[in-house]
Amino acid sequence: MAHGGGPRQVKLDRESELRIEVGYDAPLKLRLLSGTAEIFGTELPPDFWLTFPPRLKFAVFTWNGATIEMEGSTETEYTADETPNISYVNVHAVLEERRHRAKPLPPDDPNSQGPRVIVVGPTDSGKSTLSKMLLSWAAKKEWKPTFVDLDIGQGAITIPGCIAATPIEMPIDPVEGIPLDIPLVYFYGHTTPSHESLKIHFLSGNNVDLYNVLVKELAQVVERQLSGNAESRASGMVINTMGWIEGQGYELLLHAIDTFNANVVLVLGQEKLWSMIRNVLKNKPGVDVVKLQKSGGVVSRNAKFRQKSRSHRIREYFYGLANDLSPHSNIANFSDFSVFRIGGGPQAPRSALPIGAEPAADPTRLAPVNINRDLLHTILAVSFAKEPDQIISSNVAGFVFVTDVDIQRKTITYLAPSVGELPSKYLTAGTVTWLET
Ligand code: ADP
Repeated sequence: MAHGGGPRQVKLDRESELRIEVGYDAPLKLRLLSGTAEIFGTELPPDFWLTFPPRLKFAVFTWNGATIEMEGSTETEYTADETPNISYVNVHAVLEERRHRAKPLPPDDPNSQGPRVIVVGPTDSGKSTLSKMLLSWAAKKEWKPTFVDLDIGQGAITIPGCIAATPIEMPIDPVEGIPLDIPLVYFYGHTTPSHESLKIHFLSGNNVDLYNVLVKELAQVVERQLSGNAESRASGMVINTMGWIEGQGYELLLHAIDTFNANVVLVLGQEKLWSMIRNVLKNKPGVDVVKLQKSGGVVSRNAKFRQKSRSHRIREYFYGLANDLSPHSNIANFSDFSVFRIGGGPQAPRSALPIGAEPAADPTRLAPVNINRDLLHTILAVSFAKEPDQIISSNVAGFVFVTDVDIQRKTITYLAPSVGELPSKYLTAGTVTWLET
């Protein structure tokens, strides 16, 4: 299954795929020698060497047969002739039909809105992968679907701890991923909406309310953008979600379906979830709830791997995938910034409350944060807000990484993606940290 690294060729029969996990230490080179093949919906250019970074897990799929050449070591490499891709491409065909039907209609006709697809399912069921496939197949046909990523743990658009949306204008590059130029990003600040570690910030140990508030904000802005653009509106959206499907996680999914007015719910790999959602939505006309098989190629990632890939995403934000960006280290005075935490902050002491009342934190309350060494190694979001009370409803311009806090001099040293002043003095803090490696 693993391979030491020498040059080799693999012949793929029609409708089969080569599943690969790149070795841990060195990249893998791969090219298409003959036939046609795609990686998660994006066609491979013929005879062109692509370089995949260590640890990347992916599959090269062919509809009609292909020969692949590779060089470099892999942890896993094998061919599979059983894939759910035919059922996935059938979904794509239905979506295409709806886009064509929507396109000629005037904007005030509700049917001028193309398909709004939401992909749900447990962790590691292939949600992000299916989202990418549907987006890339649509972009290949020259649609401009909007990708909405609600996964704060392992999002594909920007750094962890955020929800985001971006138009997809070209099939997604299998190496580079989604271009970062125009995303609309909201900073949630944590990589899970419910976690022990959040108890220091939120009494309940979670802040699902804040998550829902941000989902609503994002949906409103996307809605506005689509209303002004017939092509994007007809192209529709693909919404990726978190793998949290139990209890409160399930409620969050229903909230997202409702908030984005999703009309196609794709449920991956879980009969129970499919039947629950179908039951809830059966009285909602025009919403299809479709059960799809999980691919046998989806690789489970343990907590350590997830943590590592979060860290890689942050590194990539500042340094680029191939170390091709040069972030800038800056020093500022404490007084140059106002740092806030959303939802947390000091709560009223019990003694100040009526007898029997439990202190409760407002999930969207802003609490000013004193700049001190607690901020060391944290990621702060730079808000587009002009005033503090706009912070919750503002998307973010980007992120900085705190590398030093000098209490005596009252200065903070931070890494920013580029030189120059930050677009705003309002920063928000969460629990996203990074150790530069
Ligand atoms: P989810 O979004 O449900 O957590 P992903 O779509 O991110 O799951 O898939 C988990 C991992 O499996 C990813 O690293 C992805 O690249 C990999 N993967 C998905 N499908 C395949 C496949 N057919 N062959 C090889 N790897 C795959």
